[in-house]
Amino acid sequence: MTLVSLTNAIYLLAAVLFVLSLAGLSKQETARRGNVLGMVGMGLALAAVVARALNESQRAVGVTALLIALVLGIGVVVGTWRARRVEMTQMPELIAILHSFVGIAAVLVGYNSYLTGTHDGVHLVEVFLGVLIGAVTFTGSVVAFLKLSARMKSAPLTLPGRNLLNLAAVLVSCGLLAWFLAEPSVWPLALMTLIALALGWHLVAAIGGGDMPVVVSMLNSYSGWAAAAAGFMLSNDLLIVTGALVGASGAILSYIMCRAMNRSFVSVILGGFGAEEGAAAPAGGGPVGEHHEMSAADVAEALAGARSVVITPGYGMAVAKAQYPVADLVEKLRARGVEVRFGVHPVAGRLPGHMNVLLAEAKVPYDIVLEMDEINGDFDETDVVLVIGANDTVNPAALDDPSSPIAGMPVLEVWNAKQVVVFKRSMATGYAGVQNPLFFRDNTAMLFGDARDQTEKIVAALAAG
Ligand code: NDP
Repeated sequence: MTLVSLTNAIYLLAAVLFVLSLAGLSKQETARRGNVLGMVGMGLALAAVVARALNESQRAVGVTALLIALVLGIGVVVGTWRARRVEMTQMPELIAILHSFVGIAAVLVGYNSYLTGTHDGVHLVEVFLGVLIGAVTFTGSVVAFLKLSARMKSAPLTLPGRNLLNLAAVLVSCGLLAWFLAEPSVWPLALMTLIALALGWHLVAAIGGGDMPVVVSMLNSYSGWAAAAAGFMLSNDLLIVTGALVGASGAILSYIMCRAMNRSFVSVILGGFGAEEGAAAPAGGGPVGEHHEMSAADVAEALAGARSVVITPGYGMAVAKAQYPVADLVEKLRARGVEVRFGVHPVAGRLPGHMNVLLAEAKVPYDIVLEMDEINGDFDETDVVLVIGANDTVNPAALDDPSSPIAGMPVLEVWNAKQVVVFKRSMATGYAGVQNPLFFRDNTAMLFGDARDQTEKIVAALAAG
């Protein structure tokens, strides 16, 4: 068997492992196995690529091996260092910046392929599209990173005629493609790169905070297509397959998230969400009534007398790392015969599945963790709802106020329960920056303070009897 056919067989095996990995990742119970399969696939793919590179090396094999070892070494050290330090809450920004690497890699591969490859029409189109998608992905991901890490304001940038600007960028790029095909030179490619970089920046800058989850998943899809384009340029079948898998799964995830937020995909991409009415909404949200407060001891008492309790966690639970005392609380209540369930909103926290990961980490049983649609009908038969660090995902304005920037987003209808307790540190707004009328309802009480401290106090009060 030649090296090429052996590596082709390994590519095929790796592609199958990637498909199995995606299938595993679709369910919490099999997610760990999915991750392992993906890692094995990537390990095999890397080994095959390195073996081929060494075999085809035009300079001394030792020099090529040294160069590969050097870049792999740098990648492994930086990657391990960052991955070990990153907090769960910073995961989306890490993902965003990793997408930017895929984008810039596609741009570099494109230029390299143009400078060293043939100039036939098909190849030139591959180069042009690869660089275009890569450049849009690069700056788009950088802006998503800056917004998610609060280094840039999350409010949408609304330049006048912004859709026309985007359209003009696309049309000019089409013209540059025609020039590039008629007269292959680096100029149309370089001009298009500048335009694509600006387009990526503008596309994501125009999208507001509430839509960032969809944007991250959309950029995930773009990074897949950029990788597939690089695969065409490098004639690497595995890169084409992997890129297409990432591109398609990112697109499907974006669609599912849009449906969860009741937003159309096109309106998200065109941006400006939260711009019109959002700007008119009280900045930071002024008070819209009187709120009531409860102490941890009062909450413990209410819980002790409850038959059914639902916990709706949000971003604040992740910040406070409150999942561990929350798991203790659940165990205590269940031991007393109280029915306890979780209601998880599809975009609670800062990345899809964020809450499920935290609850699994704290060993909460899967079967009591329900999705929004599964639990929404049950709130009117619920005695106590504990809203732990959630805000936008339990905001009734999404349903009753058509002028709200989050109008139309399905939410957890916690206010239908007999008693709602909201754990947060202040009356501050959540991610979308809009005030939450839930806090001023008669059956809602605020439990101010860090969610972890307060939950620990409740657990202690319950233990004390
Ligand atoms: P929000 O971000 O709306 O609100 C979180 C709340 O937690 C804040 O109001 C904050 O209030 C409170 N909080 C913060 N730290 C603590 C703490 N230590 N203890 C107690 N409370 C704390 O949360 P949700 O999960 O309800 O909503 C998610 C939002 O994020 C949505 O708008 C969604 O669209 C968006 N988003 C979602 C992504 C995803 O994929 N899931 C990705 C990116 C954005 P206070 O400061 O007063 O304590």
